[in-house]
Amino acid sequence: MQYKAVFIDVDDTLLDYVPCCRAAFDAAMPEHPEFFQLFFDIAGRLFSEAKHGKYTIAEVMDMYPAEFIETIYDSLRTPLAKEEMTEQFKHAFRVAWGTTHALVPGAKEMLDLLREKGYRLFAASNSFGHLQRSRLEHAGILHYFEDTFISMDIGYDKPDIRFFREALRRAGLQPDEVVMIGDSMTTDILGARAAGMDTIFFDRRGGASLLETVNPLIR
Ligand SMILES: [Mg+2]
Repeated sequence: MQYKAVFIDVDDTLLDYVPCCRAAFDAAMPEHPEFFQLFFDIAGRLFSEAKHGKYTIAEVMDMYPAEFIETIYDSLRTPLAKEEMTEQFKHAFRVAWGTTHALVPGAKEMLDLLREKGYRLFAASNSFGHLQRSRLEHAGILHYFEDTFISMDIGYDKPDIRFFREALRRAGLQPDEVVMIGDSMTTDILGARAAGMDTIFFDRRGGASLLETVNPLIR
């Protein structure tokens, strides 16, 4: 066997980000489905800026609900003050997000395959630990993982090399014993490579299939 362990990104590698986001948004703001795209665009821009180091993921988690409510506040005609509305929406979205669990096609089959081949499996994701574990559990795949390395537990966000070093330390592994699978060239692939790990890029946006991507590269 080439590797001892596989680190796997969560969003858009195992869990389907857009339907998860839609479900949490609809639960948090059921009376305004028309604002979803605006919300999605604001969150997307801020997370992209976080990927490039402008903000931490923790900062963005507070920023995107605030910017979203700021933008739509006048059309809401709510008796709540802007700050209260922001807190209410942020809380409702987060609670709902923790139960969102749409799977990327092939995710379970890939985990079965990797487990059959005897790899130790670890999740490696930028987010809140309790939320990601809850989502993986709702999706029925948490049990595949020996441990979950989530940025807000680890103290650093991918692609910071310290995220990967700390994850390796906790797993008791050397970089050349691990392959990282992820859909983000910036956070997953370049980050893991900088830490000395091999990587498998899942080109989800380019229409790649997860199983077909991973299968030939894992012995
Ligand atoms: Mg991802």
